[in-house]
Amino acid sequence: MLKVIFKEESVFSIDSYANDILNYNFNSEDFVFGDIKRKGKIYAIAYEISSINTEFQNSIENHRDFFDRDNNLVNQDDYRNLFKKVLCAEPNVLYEYINSDNFTDLYLNMQAVEIYQKLFIWSGGVTNRIKNWYDDHIELESCYFCNRNFINELENGSRTYSLDHFYYKAKSPIITYSFYNLVPVCMTCNTMLKNQSEVKCKSPYDESFKLHKIKFWIIDHDSFKPRLEHEEYSDLIQALKINEQYATHNDYVKKLCNLRDKYPDTRIEEMASIMSVNDENLKKDIFGVILDPEHFHMRPLAKLHHDILTLTEEN
Ligand SMILES: [Zn+2]
Repeated sequence: MLKVIFKEESVFSIDSYANDILNYNFNSEDFVFGDIKRKGKIYAIAYEISSINTEFQNSIENHRDFFDRDNNLVNQDDYRNLFKKVLCAEPNVLYEYINSDNFTDLYLNMQAVEIYQKLFIWSGGVTNRIKNWYDDHIELESCYFCNRNFINELENGSRTYSLDHFYYKAKSPIITYSFYNLVPVCMTCNTMLKNQSEVKCKSPYDESFKLHKIKFWIIDHDSFKPRLEHEEYSDLIQALKINEQYATHNDYVKKLCNLRDKYPDTRIEEMASIMSVNDENLKKDIFGVILDPEHFHMRPLAKLHHDILTLTEEN
């Protein structure tokens, strides 16, 4: 629901991210031993990574068009460079990819799924490594999906967030670890609500993403139920059950609307004049700071708070 915000001070390089993941996985021993938990059983696997690489290269070749538009790989057989492009794929490329015909081909390509699992699921270490990138570079305050729960990295190194595969990973295994396909969100949104839902709208990393600017409106002034609707994002709103989640906040909305009715701008100006204080500061004291859309992630319910107060201002 909110746009993902990078930390101002972070020096982020998508290239370094991809190198980190690739070096971790591919500079391993020739033989890799790992445990895969699948369907409740633990399978010990051992395989020669070079043979996997060849298979993987073949499967990734099918998607070269998407990730190597310029066909500028020096070595056409260099799957590593191609895979790097997949890891670095920009949000608009992922969007186009997921909405393309080749998406169906990929879904049918179960071999790619299997190979991908062998390459990455053998070690939990890679997930931790990936999360470090989000800890260091993404602002972690409240959930980018619901804006209701806090998401943080704790002092002991544990985390109160998980990474959602925005475009569902089982149907697009090749982009599982593409940086811009992973959104830090609360556990509720990731595992209990969105889970395996398919969405095809623009992602919260996309420059043209605008769901955070679409305002909640009130169904009627008896119920005070906030509602968010937009055709372009209906799949995401539905997957996250945004309106069901926010239906529980009608009491909050009612109090805010009543407070605003009590203190219209003219009243605040009068009071500020009597008290000899700045009217904007007095407004903040009454309603709390109203954050703008680029800062909604900083506080739970900031979007709802903003939308209700700016709607009533407009009225
Ligand atoms: Zn959430």
